[in-house]
Amino acid sequence: PTPFDALTPQPADVLLSLIALYRDDPRPKKLDLGVGVYRDDTGATPVMRAVKAAEGRLLETQGSKSYLGPEGDIRYTELLQPIVFGKTMPADTMVGVQTPGGTGALRLAAELVNAAQKNAKRPGAKVWLGTPTWPNHAPIMTSAGLTVATYRYYDQATQTILFDEMMSALKGADAGDVVLLHGCCHNPVGADLDQAQWRAVAEVVAERGLIPLIDLAYQGLGDGLEEDAAGARLVLDAAPDALVAYSCDKNFGLYRERVGALYAKGGTPARTALMRSNILLLARVNWSMPPDHGGALVRVILDDAGLTAEWRAELDAMRTRINQVRQALAAGDAWLAPLGCQRGMFSLLPLSPEQVGLLRRDHAVYMVGNGRANLAGLTLATVPQFIDALRAVR
Ligand code: PLP
Repeated sequence: PTPFDALTPQPADVLLSLIALYRDDPRPKKLDLGVGVYRDDTGATPVMRAVKAAEGRLLETQGSKSYLGPEGDIRYTELLQPIVFGKTMPADTMVGVQTPGGTGALRLAAELVNAAQKNAKRPGAKVWLGTPTWPNHAPIMTSAGLTVATYRYYDQATQTILFDEMMSALKGADAGDVVLLHGCCHNPVGADLDQAQWRAVAEVVAERGLIPLIDLAYQGLGDGLEEDAAGARLVLDAAPDALVAYSCDKNFGLYRERVGALYAKGGTPARTALMRSNILLLARVNWSMPPDHGGALVRVILDDAGLTAEWRAELDAMRTRINQVRQALAAGDAWLAPLGCQRGMFSLLPLSPEQVGLLRRDHAVYMVGNGRANLAGLTLATVPQFIDALRAVR
């Protein structure tokens, strides 16, 4: 035997098997509400026009593919700042680095917190996750050495945010604990805090000395670029130290290009400088430097007023389409009414795994077993078919 024989088998990604099942289903009216990508009303996930144009420009103008540094494309992270924060942040209290996707940003954030907590002799410091959450959150945090603590964020059966439970958990958190918050378009539940609730969270974060880690992976797909960041900005303003794990993979449609950024705000210039040197070291030992192409495309778009306007218009159209589907579902069946107030691609429907299985077997509707539906897999034309299938299994 070798050490590899001691490995324990790990479950396969459920989404990958769902993709294969969907692909092999011969039924013509099958619906794919599984994989978490945007789809237009033809079911395609196209390359955005602004991205195509930026790729053309890059092809013509890029003169070298020589190494950048562990921070990636610095201009990319600078140009993204006004979109994320509403302004350019003071350089002495804000670090921004390009990362391989939002996933890379989360990993880097977790490792930075872990390094800090170890040096501060607080090993096993907690990161608070509301449940349910993106299934990758807890494993990323624990594999970086952090201890995960959870509170209930959302009740699937009644389709409501459990704000009181969230607040009492945060009020019981220790100073220096991290609280991970979905900036907008919560994955998987679709239900976001309102502004009063964000304000209340910002107050607790400030009072308790918590470190917010904002996961912003869907900006612009909820109510608009500005609107979708408003709550997160309240919390960021209230905290001396804060982290933002950003993804351009959905709002620029760049998924496989792996385009993200980690922003770290430090309460003092000295602390910010420490965060910066540690982030660069951690990036170097993880991936040396991020893949360039996707970040370069975002930079080319945001550096050009015309391309930026085109990207914003395309993003507006994506958001409008998702929200039209939401409104049609909410109007089509009282059971689906909560979906009208939720935002982003996902909702967590109160369905059992058995009901999800029946939807697939009898109605060719494919969704994840926990009841998460990617509503971008629907069109106004297929909403009635989906509602009928739901009525049949409920
Ligand atoms: N955070 C949330 C909540 C997500 O849903 C996702 C992707 O599905 C990510 C982060 C990671 O995105 P990326 O593909 O940029 O790594």
